[in-house]
Amino acid sequence: MNKDNYSKRLMSNMEINTHNHLVIDGVDTIDLVDKYGTPLNVYDISLIKEKINTFKEAFKNYENKTQVAYASKAFSSLALYEILAKEDVSLDVVSGGELFLAIQAGFPKERIHFHGNNKSYDELNTAIQENIGCIVIDNFYEIDMVEELTNKHHQVMDVLIRVAPGVEAHTHEYITTGQADSKFGFDLASGQVEKAIAKIKSADNINSIGLHAHIGSQIFEVDGYQVVIEKLLAKAKEWKKTFGFNLDVLNVGGGFGIRYTEADTPLPLDDYAEAIMNAVRKQAKLNELALPEIWIEPGRSIVGEAGTSLYTVGSQKNIPAIRKYVSVDGGMADNIRPALYQAEYTGVLANRVNENSEEKVSIAGKACESGDMLIWDITLPQPTQKDVLAIFSTGAYGYSMASNYNRLPRPAVVFVEKGKDFLAIKRETVQDFLKLENSIENW
Ligand code: PLP
Repeated sequence: MNKDNYSKRLMSNMEINTHNHLVIDGVDTIDLVDKYGTPLNVYDISLIKEKINTFKEAFKNYENKTQVAYASKAFSSLALYEILAKEDVSLDVVSGGELFLAIQAGFPKERIHFHGNNKSYDELNTAIQENIGCIVIDNFYEIDMVEELTNKHHQVMDVLIRVAPGVEAHTHEYITTGQADSKFGFDLASGQVEKAIAKIKSADNINSIGLHAHIGSQIFEVDGYQVVIEKLLAKAKEWKKTFGFNLDVLNVGGGFGIRYTEADTPLPLDDYAEAIMNAVRKQAKLNELALPEIWIEPGRSIVGEAGTSLYTVGSQKNIPAIRKYVSVDGGMADNIRPALYQAEYTGVLANRVNENSEEKVSIAGKACESGDMLIWDITLPQPTQKDVLAIFSTGAYGYSMASNYNRLPRPAVVFVEKGKDFLAIKRETVQDFLKLENSIENW
């Protein structure tokens, strides 16, 4: 493979320096490996800020307010929350743990939205006591708890009603039938949303501000969003008449696609924003509704491409005429996506980016599972022990889904920005395992 082909494989935020090393936002990844070891997760903070800004800019010409709420589940850390607080975005949390970390980071509480299909009484209690911006209410059990808690604390809480709209989008397809079968939200087709609206209306301290729907992930087309907007605004017109329901806010969730490999051709982020705004304008006019605020909840599209995983190459197994396995010092414990849903990635040897001595290999993780494969069939300069493999676009649902399977400590997380690096999350050590353990000597 010549230089040009390799360059094409790099992500937009990457360069190669004179040592033939991979450079991310001005930082030599091999220097990072020398300093912090591997496996290492590197986040390009400039790119994260750029993605946020693209969404915010794209919504600027909308006639009402808009909110971009980063979906924390993609990746959360104290330092990231601190950075996001300054970027003037909102935050989507899905557990007491994410809420706790956001509060610890000093994230403005009024910009926090709380999601989840089984929020506990304690989690809701904290959210209400902390007076966060809004709760995305998911089910009848939750309405009861929020009613009890808001009455107890004499506090009004804004809520969005999560709707299961019967539209599911994934990559290039959206499906409008059968997708009511979801654990999230109130089912639109069977009238659950109407019951939820009526129940919320009768609660003294719950203030419904609008509707929420999230239709899927890694979506490369805009039609799924357009269909759900059409459905929800038509219903909003109906509910305005029947319940006096006001659609002040329409939250269309996240799901905007990113580039994992050369095969992925996501839309520019502003195209999604443009399509969403236009669909809302059109449907609001058609249904004689005031333009609602538009909220979105991108996770993957904010942090996915900004994340790179660095691993050290170890053992190799060559099966003649079948395959060469190259093992690295991480795998499914720090990135479950390939094992969980056959996610595909690409990458380069970070210490030898451009070389012609290429061969096709498969990248194996170190967990004791045959399914722990990070990449099947990738062409790299013949990898040798101690080479550093960089896997691209691992920033979303990698570290946040990491486990201690096989008692593998979780990697360190480093932020880079304009030539500077910062250790955001320390590497876990085997000593950390002991924190939660109890010896039977104490029994
Ligand atoms: N909002 C909700 C309700 C979600 O369930 C998810 C992801 O599953 C997101 C936002 C973020 O999606 P993505 O990371 O694909 O943008």
